Amino acid sequence: MDVRAQVSSVFHLDKCIGCHTCSLACNNLWTSREGTEYMWWNNVETKPGTGYPTLWEDQEKYRGGWELKGNSLKPRLGRRLGILTNLFYNPYLPIMDDYYEPWTYQYEHLFNAPPGEAPPTARAISKVTGRHVEIEAGPNWDDDLSGSSIYARNDINLNELTEEERTALFRIEQMVFFYIPRICNHCLNPGCLAVCPSGAIYKRGEDGVVLVSQEKCRGWRFCVSGCPYKKTYYNWATGKAEKCILCYPRIETGQAPACFHSCVGRIRYIGVLLYDADRIEEIASSSPESELVAAQRRIILDPNDPAVVSDARKSGIGDDWIKAAQKSPIYKFVKEWELALPLHAEFRTLPMLFYVPPLLPVIASNREGNYDLASGDFFANIGNSRVPIKYMARLFSAGNEEIIKSALRKLWAVRNYQQAKSVGNIDLKQAEALMSEAGCSAETAEQIARLTALPRFSDRFVLPPYHREESIEQFMQDPLAHRNQVGFGLNIPPRRGP
Ligand code: SF4
Ligand code: SF4
Repeated sequence: MDVRAQVSSVFHLDKCIGCHTCSLACNNLWTSREGTEYMWWNNVETKPGTGYPTLWEDQEKYRGGWELKGNSLKPRLGRRLGILTNLFYNPYLPIMDDYYEPWTYQYEHLFNAPPGEAPPTARAISKVTGRHVEIEAGPNWDDDLSGSSIYARNDINLNELTEEERTALFRIEQMVFFYIPRICNHCLNPGCLAVCPSGAIYKRGEDGVVLVSQEKCRGWRFCVSGCPYKKTYYNWATGKAEKCILCYPRIETGQAPACFHSCVGRIRYIGVLLYDADRIEEIASSSPESELVAAQRRIILDPNDPAVVSDARKSGIGDDWIKAAQKSPIYKFVKEWELALPLHAEFRTLPMLFYVPPLLPVIASNREGNYDLASGDFFANIGNSRVPIKYMARLFSAGNEEIIKSALRKLWAVRNYQQAKSVGNIDLKQAEALMSEAGCSAETAEQIARLTALPRFSDRFVLPPYHREESIEQFMQDPLAHRNQVGFGLNIPPRRGP
C-alpha cells in the first residue's frame, strides 16, 4: 500500500443557486489578463445543456480521457510516442466557436457619444478583434434553460432516453433543470498529463494539485484535447496552457480557494483524502463501466485505520495531515455516506471532485400543502422523477442507476426525517421507516443534515497546514527523487518524504 494525500472537494448540487459568484471570484483573481479572455477555470452550467465549451462531454468529438482496450488502459488521443510522431496534427481541439468569442461593451461610448436624438448605447465589442459583434454564444448560454429546445436537446447525456422521455422532460410545464459548477477535478489519473508531449503537467506530491509548468510548456495543446472535462485552456498571448490551480497560494496559507470562499450557496467543501497510489491503474481499468464508482470509492482509504495511518507516516505524510484526513468532510460525503459521486467516472481519470446529486427530480405527492406519506411508497417516485434517473446516472455514476437511486433515497429520507422532527407535518415513525429503508441511522441523518444545512466555515473547509518549505528543501537536496513517476502514463506524485 502506497498511501498518498489528495486535497479533494465536494459540491452539493441541491444548494447551488446558479449565481456564478464562484466564476467571477476565480476570474477576478486568475483570468483577467490578456490571452485568458475566454477562460473560465470555474464555470457553472445548466443541465440538461451542452455546457462550456459546447458538447465538452462528447469524446467522439474531442478524444479526451482514457479508454479500455482489452485489459489495457490508453488515452483516447493515443500514447505519448504516437503523439510525438504527430505533433503538428490534432484535429480534436475545441475552436473559438465551441467556447465563444469573448466580448465586452463599449462603455466609453456612453460618455463620449456626440449629442443625438437617441440616448447612447454600449454595444458589444469582441475582445479578440475589437469590432462590434452580435452575441451568439457564451459560457453560460444554456443558463436557466434559456432556449432549451434548441440547446439543451443536444445534451449527449440524453442520448439513451426514449423519445417519450425526452418529450416529457422538455414539455414546458414540466421543465426542470439544475446547475453544475465545474473546475479542474485534480484527477488521480489525469488525461491532460498523460498526453502532454513536453512533460509540463505534473501532480504535486504534497496535495495532488495538478499544475502546468509554464517553463516546460511548449503550447502543443494536446492537454486541451486530453482533458475530457475541457479544463485546460490555451493562452494565445503567452503560447502556454493554463488551468485551475486550486488557488494553491491560498490553500498553502490555510485559506479556501476563491470560488469556495465566495460561494453564496455554501455548496462547496474541501478536505484531505488518503488513497492508495499502488491501485490507480487497477481502479481506473475497472470493468464494466458501471463498477467504476464503487471501484473509485475503494481506492480511498480509511484515515482512522491504524494500518493506513502507519503506512501514511511511512510515506512521509505528517500527523497534522492525517488528522485533517480524519476530519475531512469529503471522506464523509464520498466514502462514509456514499452521497457524493464523481462526474463522468467513465472518462477513467479518477476525478477528485465529487458531486452530491440534486434531489430536485423526486416528485412527492402533495395533499393540501403536505407531503403525502400515507399514500405509500415514496421511493417509487424516484423512478418517476422529472429528470430521468437514466440521465442522472449518465452524469454521476457511469450509467449505474442503483448508485443514483441509493444516494437520492438517503437524501430524501434525511430530508423527511428532519422535517418530521422540526416541522412536525410528517409522522416521525413513517420518516424513521423511510430512513431504515434507505440504510441510514438517526445519528448519520443528524450528521448529514448538519453538514448540509448548518455547516460552519471550519466544517466545510478542513485544510491541513502546509509545510511548503520542507518540500522545497527536499527538492533542493534531491531533485530526482521528486520527479514525476510517469510510467504507464499515470502520474503518481512523489512521496512527501520524511
Ligand atoms: S480535470 Fe483532470 S484531466 Fe482535466 S485538467 Fe484537471 S486533472 Fe487534467
Ligand atoms: S457561487 Fe456557489 S451557489 Fe453560486 S453558482 Fe457558484 S457554486 Fe453555485
